[in-house]
Amino acid sequence: MHFKKIEEFDNLEMSYICDFSGGYISRNKNLFRELELSKLTQLILEKCVHGTPIFKLGNSGNKLLILSGIHGNELPSQIANVKLLNKLLFKDLNHTIYFIPFAAPKSSMNNERTFNEMDLNRSAHINGSLSNRIVQTVEDLGIDFVGDFHSTAYNANPGIESIFSSKSPTPESYLMANYISQDVGSEIIAFDFAGSSYKGAVEDVCNLKQIPAITCEVLCPFASVSEGTVEKSFNQMNSFLQYFGV
Ligand SMILES: [Zn+2]
Repeated sequence: MHFKKIEEFDNLEMSYICDFSGGYISRNKNLFRELELSKLTQLILEKCVHGTPIFKLGNSGNKLLILSGIHGNELPSQIANVKLLNKLLFKDLNHTIYFIPFAAPKSSMNNERTFNEMDLNRSAHINGSLSNRIVQTVEDLGIDFVGDFHSTAYNANPGIESIFSSKSPTPESYLMANYISQDVGSEIIAFDFAGSSYKGAVEDVCNLKQIPAITCEVLCPFASVSEGTVEKSFNQMNSFLQYFGV
């Protein structure tokens, strides 16, 4: 995978996970109106037209991934991810941070949970699926830790602000979740073994490959943004980075 430097932002590099998932984020009004339209944000949206972009800041330390948009209708984390990338641009970083703000821009555009009728958080174990390509990218790049950021509704599972983790085979998943839970107050949900309740979540597939991963959820109705939810997701992301001393 080849990363290209972006001229206008000297610290920023980007590449594509795939070229069949593109979409116009601006067509999702509930999402678009919450974005601060900086030059960087405009660039991100432009890149999303052609597929799933991955961005990179920094060149040392651990390799961390901030992932969002695995469910296109879960908006707060996608907005928070863009916000975080804007905040960390031009900062001196002691770690390498990868950002996938919109895992499936087409689904984000359509405010849809699925991508081509596939739930990406149930298909990361299926060869060739979009979320499998994301996991493949995590492996290819040697990414050390993965934070996957979602939202959940009252009547959905888990229906509370929370952090999913597992204790085995990758105990650091649980340690990361525990840290973030204590830091930001989200409930911790810990399984004994990754992927034991259902198959194909990005977090579980990473943990099964011994790449420590967590899934963070904030409480927000699907397809919309309720007050304070972007900040909550942003705080979860910040806390994930803080665990590594970013
Ligand atoms: Zn989700």
